[in-house]
Amino acid sequence: MPVLALETSCDETAVAIYDGERGLLSHTLHSQIRLHAQYGGVVPELASRDHVRRVNGLIRIALEQAGLGAADLSGVAYTAGPGLIGALMVGASVAAGLALAQGLPLVAVHHMEGHLLAPMLEPERPVFPFLALLVSGGHTLLVSVEGIGRYRVLGESLDDAVGEAFDKTAKLLGLPYPGGPHLARLAEAGQPGRYRFPRPMTDRPGLDFSFSGLKTAVATALPVDADDQQRADIARSFEDAVTETLAIKCDRALEATGYRGLVVAGGVGANRRLRARLADLATRRGVGLYFPRPEFCTDNAAMIAYAGWARLADARPADGRLFTTARWPLESLQPPGTRAA
Ligand code: ATP
Ligand code: MG
Ligand code: FE
Repeated sequence: MPVLALETSCDETAVAIYDGERGLLSHTLHSQIRLHAQYGGVVPELASRDHVRRVNGLIRIALEQAGLGAADLSGVAYTAGPGLIGALMVGASVAAGLALAQGLPLVAVHHMEGHLLAPMLEPERPVFPFLALLVSGGHTLLVSVEGIGRYRVLGESLDDAVGEAFDKTAKLLGLPYPGGPHLARLAEAGQPGRYRFPRPMTDRPGLDFSFSGLKTAVATALPVDADDQQRADIARSFEDAVTETLAIKCDRALEATGYRGLVVAGGVGANRRLRARLADLATRRGVGLYFPRPEFCTDNAAMIAYAGWARLADARPADGRLFTTARWPLESLQPPGTRAA
């Protein structure tokens, strides 16, 4: 049952094919980072146009890599939201066109459900129920996951998402966009403990986050004439503050739920220090820890293909309507096959 999936929610154009029996058959991706770098952030209109330019070529490559023709597919999935609406519309239209032409069912996938299920593409998979920490450019969520489509948000960021905090702090440090990975690299050369940044909202009960103050703390601490060592020290202390804050909340949520598994996904899940910090926590608590491989932490179509395959029961025949949505609460999802018609 090979399902071809398109991901175009932001600044990556990606296509992948997942098969229930044979696993991931192919995945391809074009990143628009260079296109947007000169503007210091994603320019929505440029993103949409570049998706249009890239998507057909990537579909051809994905089919070739999998050794399949379009007629061999059993379904087409696409990211329907949340994301940039123009960018989402490109994936939705191309997916609907392909489904219509081949007479295939069409599955609309929630981007964050894709991120959440990405560890299912790895050899060691988490078993339900588990706790998921979703840390990306637009989201910071602690989710109780009892099964596919059975999600309860236990905590979330009240302001900036973690990835956003990384990117904004990196900008302050003069690093190129998107700054998260650059900041992590700079932090390697930093001395821990030279600066002391807050662990926001850890001094009170609860599982919510707030990261905008941390960025302000960096702005205040950063000397105008900071040298390379000072910038590296600040990057290191920022990264330590973020990872410790996330670990404290994961610890609390594991305590509260009694779950035996922790899944970490989304772009910031690629951060090495975060992975190491959570590995310590998991060992201390004796729980299983599950990450996607780093390339499947950031946006990709492999995770959308897996989610699309898992949700084939929700597929609709392609018609003229294109379902996309910029906002889509994760908790509104239902288990596959139970959605109201
Ligand atoms: P969302 O999934 O919420 O819609 P998005 O798709 O833009 O947002 P992702 O692609 O999942 O987000 O992740 C991108 C974010 O991850 C960026 O903010 C980026 O800086 C951050 N990121 C990627 N790698 C690292 C890293 N090694 N350390 C810290 N942050 C990182
Ligand atoms: Mg991106
Ligand atoms: Fe994402």
